[in-house]
Amino acid sequence: MYKGLIEKYKRFLPISDKTEIVSLLEGNTPLIKANNLKKILNVNFDIYLKYEGLNPTGSFKDRGMSMALTKAKEEGAKSVICASTGNTSASAAAYSARAGLKCIVLIPDGNIAFGKLSQALIHNAKVIAINGNFDDALKIVREISEKLNIVLVNSINPYRIEGQKTASFEIIEDLGDAPDYNFIPVGNAGNISAYWKGYKEYRKNNLSTKLPKMMGFEAAGAAPIVLGEPIEKPETIATAIKIGNPASWKSAEEARDESGGVIDVVTDEEILSAYRMLAKYEGIFCEPASSTSLAGLIKYINKKDFEIEKNTKVVCILTGHGLKDPDNAIKNSDEIIKIKADIKEIEKIINF
Ligand SMILES: *Cc1c(COP(=O)(O)O)cnc(C)c1O
Repeated sequence: MYKGLIEKYKRFLPISDKTEIVSLLEGNTPLIKANNLKKILNVNFDIYLKYEGLNPTGSFKDRGMSMALTKAKEEGAKSVICASTGNTSASAAAYSARAGLKCIVLIPDGNIAFGKLSQALIHNAKVIAINGNFDDALKIVREISEKLNIVLVNSINPYRIEGQKTASFEIIEDLGDAPDYNFIPVGNAGNISAYWKGYKEYRKNNLSTKLPKMMGFEAAGAAPIVLGEPIEKPETIATAIKIGNPASWKSAEEARDESGGVIDVVTDEEILSAYRMLAKYEGIFCEPASSTSLAGLIKYINKKDFEIEKNTKVVCILTGHGLKDPDNAIKNSDEIIKIKADIKEIEKIINF
């Protein structure tokens, strides 16, 4: 029986035999081969989608939160705190409930997808909305956690990165080796750093023969790393990566440079187009921020001075589930057809 990622990968994680593990059986998510997209995009390499939306609270944040709450509990903490664009708070709230700890979350007022907000509330976190953005919220919780001695569970908590690196282990196990390219959304930049750490650890232990190029993508209106300076007022439809001053900025650049990859931007239009393609052609519903990875791949397929070699393996990380943000799904789909409850009328519309 699968017992969660800490149990499975404990020899790569900072825990002991005595550690009481806080888990909801996160991880073990599917790596789905995207044959329809391969055909539509007319490419001669294989595309795989790592569907992280199938974690217990619907995003990859659960991997890191399992580790963070396990360690917080081990250290005798009574409460945890985080700033969040939504998924971190959903995950922190659920894992705190599981661990029996109090959870406090700071969110940007009015800027968080409804599904995510509902999760933090039903798991009984203390939800505080501030009239500022994510970066403001992170600054505040950093100070409060020090002042009041509450454990901070944003990705600057090193245990978060430790848990999240296990996604790379799973990809290597599924493919039999590391992929050639790893496309991934970049927000606060913890996840790209975690994946790179995971790939390097398996390589070092001879559990893979190569390392992928890390291909990170920010949203065009929230692209501090690409611009080379923090952004005061980040703007993008992809709220999970609407971040102007990423905490893991440096380690994301290291992942890019050590792997020979890139950090680049995609527009909101490109993000939404990839979002619809995943749902329409592969049956996979992810949230807009997640499809940034596929949008990045499509951008690089169309790039004249870039070539992904034949028969290589490309992985796109799909970070969160589409049900988190139903408003965007409905806004970006055809309208519902409304007519009388009449068979003839309906037959006219179906029109085979
Ligand atoms: C948190 C999150 C991201 C961004 O990950 P970072 O580690 O902040 O770069 C992307 N997509 C989703 C769905 C997220 O929840």
